[in-house]
Amino acid sequence: MDMKVVKTEAEWRQQLSDIEFQVTRQAATERAFTGRYWDHHEHGIYTCVCCQTPLFESDAKFESGCGWPSYFKALNPAHVREIRDHSYGMTRIEIVCNICDAHLGHVFPDGPKPTGLRYCINSASLAFTPK
Ligand SMILES: [Zn+2]
Repeated sequence: MDMKVVKTEAEWRQQLSDIEFQVTRQAATERAFTGRYWDHHEHGIYTCVCCQTPLFESDAKFESGCGWPSYFKALNPAHVREIRDHSYGMTRIEIVCNICDAHLGHVFPDGPKPTGLRYCINSASLAFTPK
């Protein structure tokens, strides 16, 4: 089991930009086609912007057309956690970082093979490390 990363709201505010804080710690959603990674094609690893845990890799990234970076699987299933989300009158599955509880985005059952899943993630939740 990985160690949990726990910080106060003030510590997260100091570490993160405004949009990163709003998305990861307050579960906001960045506007489609505005984030830094929806149209990003380099090879590498996407990590949690809060705790640097590896979350997704470029090999699992695909063009979803939705305006957010989309992946058909998580790099390590132990690093993400699913939470049922009933906000906005919809039932969706929220994805959070399992290490620091950062809000990442949602997972939908309309992705490509082999998983059929679409992890629709806010760019503001991610940092990128080239391979
Ligand atoms: Zn994290």
